[in-house]
Amino acid sequence: MLSALLLSTLAMIAIVALRYLAVSGAFAVLTARVRPGYHAGLRPQIRREIGWSLASAAIFGIPAGVVAFGWDRFGWTLIYSDWTDYPLWYLPLSVFIYLFAHDTWFYWTHRLMHRPKVFRAAHAVHHASRPPTAWAAMSFHPIEALTGAVVVPVLVFIVPIHIAMLGVVLAVMTVMGVTNHMGWEMFPRWLVRSAVGGWIITASHHQLHHERYKCNYGLYFRFWDRLCKTDRGLSESFLR
Ligand SMILES: [Zn+2]
Ligand SMILES: [Zn+2]
Repeated sequence: MLSALLLSTLAMIAIVALRYLAVSGAFAVLTARVRPGYHAGLRPQIRREIGWSLASAAIFGIPAGVVAFGWDRFGWTLIYSDWTDYPLWYLPLSVFIYLFAHDTWFYWTHRLMHRPKVFRAAHAVHHASRPPTAWAAMSFHPIEALTGAVVVPVLVFIVPIHIAMLGVVLAVMTVMGVTNHMGWEMFPRWLVRSAVGGWIITASHHQLHHERYKCNYGLYFRFWDRLCKTDRGLSESFLR
């Protein structure tokens, strides 16, 4: 049993690490085309970003591996695989609940991590990327990585979700984590500046967090930033 648990954990670490390398790598290649020269002089930083990100992949893989093992072996979690277990309208709702719950946790832990003492200990690593690149998606100090790693493994015990919708949540998490750091906006300007764009976080919003630090703390939605008056809008220099 112990070897099966170890195997599950190692498999999850490998999946998270490979997913990071594949998605960050793909958007880094795209960045070289869209913004030629963006990575010039950033090689030492990118090496550090990859190092911290792979360490984070290990930290993310451990709780995920334990939960995956328990799901398979003991039927833990509220993850379901039969499309008829819950009404169809619950599918998109469950994705939204996961993203909103993660966003809420992230916003408040992120604000805490911007207190000077906590910042130096746990969050300076992430802000050492100036400017961040697609490789910075998981560039976190282990303490910060741990705060992120527990979110989905805890949620699957509280909120039912179809396995495919969990895949959607993880895909959104990965792609937005990468694209919000890659140094350019992939969404059309009309969408970013639309009424819907006013509630959603894309690269132009998170870039301003990396420029000014004490604002734009959210992860997916601008809800908490707008409610708590920490939203400073989009990075203008960036939307040129
Ligand atoms: Zn960031
Ligand atoms: Zn920050």
